Amino acid sequence: MATLSRLAGVPVIEVKGIGKEKVKPLNGAGVETVADLLHHLPRTYVDRSDRPELSRVPLGTEVTVIGEVKSIATRRPRAKLAITEARISDETATLKVVWFNQPFRERQLTPGTEAAFSGTVESYRGSLQMANPVVAPLNSERESLHMGRIVPIYPQIGKIKPFELIDAISNALRRARPITDPLPDVLLAERGLMSRDAAFADIHFPETLDRTGPARDRLVYDELLRLELALALRKRRQTEEATGFAHRPTGELTETFLGGLPYELTGAQRRVIGEIVEDLKEAHPMHRLLHGEVGSGKTVVAVVALLSGVEGGWQGAIMAPTEVLAEQHFLGVTTLLARAGLSPEPFAAPSELGMDSLFGSDGSAVHIGILTGSTAVANYSPDISRAELLDDVAAGQVDILVGTHALIQEGVHFAKLGVAVVDEQHRFGVAQRVLLREKADSIEPDLLIMTATPIPRTLSMTLYGDLDISALDEMPPGRTPVKTRILSRADEVLAWEEVQEQVAAGRQAFVVCPLVEDSPKVEAASATTEHSRLSALMPALRVGLIHGQLRPMDKEAVMSEFRAGEIDVLVATTVIEVGIDIPNATVMVIEDADRFGLSQLHQLRGRVGRGQHPGLCLLIADPANEDAGERLAAMAATTDGFVLAQEDLRIRGQGTVFGARQSGVADLKLADLLRDLDLLIAARNDAFAIVDRDPGLTDHPELAEEVRAMLGESVDWLFKS
Ligand code: ADP
Ligand code: MG
Repeated sequence: MATLSRLAGVPVIEVKGIGKEKVKPLNGAGVETVADLLHHLPRTYVDRSDRPELSRVPLGTEVTVIGEVKSIATRRPRAKLAITEARISDETATLKVVWFNQPFRERQLTPGTEAAFSGTVESYRGSLQMANPVVAPLNSERESLHMGRIVPIYPQIGKIKPFELIDAISNALRRARPITDPLPDVLLAERGLMSRDAAFADIHFPETLDRTGPARDRLVYDELLRLELALALRKRRQTEEATGFAHRPTGELTETFLGGLPYELTGAQRRVIGEIVEDLKEAHPMHRLLHGEVGSGKTVVAVVALLSGVEGGWQGAIMAPTEVLAEQHFLGVTTLLARAGLSPEPFAAPSELGMDSLFGSDGSAVHIGILTGSTAVANYSPDISRAELLDDVAAGQVDILVGTHALIQEGVHFAKLGVAVVDEQHRFGVAQRVLLREKADSIEPDLLIMTATPIPRTLSMTLYGDLDISALDEMPPGRTPVKTRILSRADEVLAWEEVQEQVAAGRQAFVVCPLVEDSPKVEAASATTEHSRLSALMPALRVGLIHGQLRPMDKEAVMSEFRAGEIDVLVATTVIEVGIDIPNATVMVIEDADRFGLSQLHQLRGRVGRGQHPGLCLLIADPANEDAGERLAAMAATTDGFVLAQEDLRIRGQGTVFGARQSGVADLKLADLLRDLDLLIAARNDAFAIVDRDPGLTDHPELAEEVRAMLGESVDWLFKS
């Protein structure tokens, strides 16, 4: 009798058949304990149980037959040649077996020995014979493991021989069994899962091959259940231990703000705002992931969330991954506030001044500032210095602070941070999420994380398994999906013709230059070269340039010119990848598109088709390999981010998706998130139900032990807060 957590405490050296010399390669392959060894699953099986009777042996294919040695003798017809001939028989027939230069067979296979012979039977000079078969005498128990049954084939570990691994696992299993089951029978029955003990037995040494599928399901389910239990526990802890506070949104600011919008909210925006406001009213802090395709209108939702806090007297923060984006948020939000008459005098657009804005300056004006590595600006005080801005934030004068991760640096203190928004989460790690939360001293602000990275459901359940999820699954009206075409380099002129036509029609274009991995300098240089080339190629157009090496001020200057329509074509590096919102830009040309990843291409493409005019994306590429070809084909085939993400997962494999390393996903050894979706959903439901009824897992001590023992260090981040 053993529990899995106990086996996770037994070093693999304890297993019979594993000597010191094998420990190192095993550890190198991540096999440190008996539990690890039992989770080293066969990659396939060879069925050697199918042994034909000697009278019916098929010719010409490899078979395994079992027979008793009747006679055996060696001849030496000439020097350096020894022919050992045996006759073996079963109840049905006799077969001749020969070996060349293996005289030891005579000693090994004395008459009366029963053995399995694997080889090919041929007709030779009128009689049947098997030449040079692999032999396994059946009198030793060890050998019978490898013959005459279904034999597991394991992924190779170092130089350990296949049969040694089989022996070791067999020994480990024999000692460990029966392995106790931490799950109640009713649950197993409901899920149609076999017992854990049977699963381990059947995955390694199945009686019949059809047992291996259900065995694997059970082990995969267990692995996913451990992960989901860890996530459920973490979520529970966040809820219970965090001291949050209940916001009291009055609607005062948000209603005015929404009234000033130049468009109606989509149904999805309304629904998600509702979900967020409900969270804000709860005493425990919100941890919500807002997921929405590029262009689905996340910004407005974020602003409403922030204003809901502000109207109750709290401050809000919004953190963006780049300066350009932070600046765009600042500008965008300031403009929307001005339209709604919620901005203080200095920034109120004169044409928008009305009753509301007079009222606004009366006290309900929203003070918003921006803080990045290089910029400090506020809408109530155009000449504010960095130090003054920081003072105002600390004094509670600033209602909303927009910024980059400058926001989570030393020296930034909020008087009463109530709502924090993190935009484009995939650029930030979990650690940064935590830091932002800590900006609020002892109480935790409500946290909204926004991402446009289309995360397949499977990944969001694991990567973000401790968050509540809201989805903006509806695009603002009037959008037509961006058309995508792939052009070979030889046809690039077609792209430039298209650009010139669209500019003639009053639109604007992006040209994205090749990605230069790890060298922003080289990337900038190549963008500069491309800028000159295209300026010469299209002399009638105003061609601009933006790249990461420009000073932030200059970057913003270029962006405002582009926004204002003073630039027709913007040659850019991937600095424009996320968030940039220029509705009049309708064409995007991506050069050497095969060098970009799928999610990056999708993000880039999201920069066009954001207004009332249809968008066009031209991918210039001559893909050098199959993966790249598949990525481009996927881009041309769909604009659905979820489909693309799923494709990405398929092409790249789950281990490398979206920085999965810190997520716990990389620790999944058995589960395949594409294939095991049903098991994942089941495990997630069960884990959350268990933790709901038994938050400390006190009634499930074995499960609790197992989560800690099996996930080890990789759950540290789950339990840290
Ligand atoms: P993302 O989700 O990619 O951050 P944004 O918030 O930048 O999207 O919004 C994309 C564009 O759609 C912006 O130009 C924004 O003004 C516009 N928009 C947002 N919501 C609506 C809506 N309900 N109706 C029409 N346009 C909208
Ligand atoms: Mg955005």
